[in-house]
Amino acid sequence: MKRVLLLILCLFLLSPGIMKSSLPTVDAAESVEVSSSFLQATVKNWLCHKCSTKVQSAQRPSSIHCPGGGHHQWTNLGEVGETVYLCDKCSTKVKSKNRPSSIHCPAGGHHRWNRLAN
Ligand SMILES: [Zn+2]
Ligand SMILES: [Zn+2]
Repeated sequence: MKRVLLLILCLFLLSPGIMKSSLPTVDAAESVEVSSSFLQATVKNWLCHKCSTKVQSAQRPSSIHCPGGGHHQWTNLGEVGETVYLCDKCSTKVKSKNRPSSIHCPAGGHHRWNRLAN
């Protein structure tokens, strides 16, 4: 009987320790997930609405020497994907994961995206 009580006491003492040690592990796993997705940075479509140049890059492209004069004005159209969208105002064609951002159409105002494929 004494032995059983000792066992229960041991379990009781150990269990908060398990709880405590398992919590930071979960946190660490989550932060690893965040940093790994940060490392495989998502490639985005960038469009300069001054010269209509389109670039696929994870980071904002360099803004120097826009053929339209001065600096490029890059708009982040969103994540690169498999779906093809065409703007019927500026004829820009992008492969995007979701409907691209509609701001700053080089033809003026907002893009009018039409889904072409996928
Ligand atoms: Zn430009
Ligand atoms: Zn457009």
